[in-house]
Amino acid sequence: MRFEISKVLDAIEGRVCTDPQLARAVLDLAEIIRYQDLDGGRPASTLRLGMVIDALARSMEEDSVPVYAVVHRGVLSDADLTSNERMVVRRWADDGKVEVLDNPGDRMLEVADLLGLPVLSRVRFDGLRGRFPWLVEQPGRALAPVPGAGGPVFIAHVGGGHTPVVGSPSPSGAKLLTREWRCPESGCTLFGGGGGGGAFADLAAVDRVPSGQPPPSLRNGVPTCPRHGSRLRDAGPRPRSEVLAVRVGGLIRRRFVLTEEQPAVVGRAPDGSGGIMLGQWLNDEARRWISRSHLRLELRGADVVATDVSTNGSGVRPGGSMAEADRIPLAPQQSRVLGTGDMVELYPGVQIGRPGELPTGAPYNPDSVMAEAPTMAMRLPR
Ligand SMILES: [Zn+2]
Repeated sequence: MRFEISKVLDAIEGRVCTDPQLARAVLDLAEIIRYQDLDGGRPASTLRLGMVIDALARSMEEDSVPVYAVVHRGVLSDADLTSNERMVVRRWADDGKVEVLDNPGDRMLEVADLLGLPVLSRVRFDGLRGRFPWLVEQPGRALAPVPGAGGPVFIAHVGGGHTPVVGSPSPSGAKLLTREWRCPESGCTLFGGGGGGGAFADLAAVDRVPSGQPPPSLRNGVPTCPRHGSRLRDAGPRPRSEVLAVRVGGLIRRRFVLTEEQPAVVGRAPDGSGGIMLGQWLNDEARRWISRSHLRLELRGADVVATDVSTNGSGVRPGGSMAEADRIPLAPQQSRVLGTGDMVELYPGVQIGRPGELPTGAPYNPDSVMAEAPTMAMRLPR
């Protein structure tokens, strides 16, 4: 039992990040873990975070959607959590995967505002519309963490106003995200010298080191560390980056960030921490065809360069065209710059490209975070 819970927490760990390019919604961990009606279990449970992440994945019809969690410091010593859960949340905090604050205030809404992300919450924010005019409950976008009619729902608060597209930062957010920021406090996990949350991350952890710093807090227009309240120093332009996605069977399974310092290797089971592993989504035939390390992706200036490093080769679908006549073979050791709309196909139905340009519309059957520990006694209402 204990082991299985650890497995679920590991799976959840891969779905929390403060990287503005990857996070798809914002939530308050202290709020989520106390929604007892989600599972009828203990007063507080971090597994409820997994349920909410699952709900978000279902709603977005995409696997692996990371959330940006704002965490009240009190959670780290919450006696209603197990010592293991407290330890895990503390590790997330140390790794900069979540934002731990003594007084979160309306930081969750600020992050949503700056990054253009939906807020997952049941709280009614009526009194805050002055500062966040986009805060509208959208019943059409309600998220149901527990399957079945009449189950508890989470409301996604998403924009009108300046956030017509989820994931599109507000003007001040966009401006803040062009720069790197440094906190004067030593060992700041959010704005430390290591370039952000990744500074202390365990390289062997489930996921890649986060490559993007969280958005600074704006206090009277001054970029401020939300953790320490100190004025942040502008450390120069943020390194260029590009978000790519893996699509398997018509569904985006995983997004990842390329920077000039951080190439990525995609394959059945690539070596090393920067690898994007596809094995869990492949059928036997695809597993036999796709090499352990199959494709290397690099950012060179503004170009995304794909290099086949496999035994069997790949193909490029120019502009996303699925016509066989258009397919350009990418032989082993061959490289190609990915143009607009281009995607690399490692095997029929296994594609890599820019997420906005990957065609959608396949039947949806997401892998659940929770499904990674199927034997765990969750006491979910059936
Ligand atoms: Zn700081």
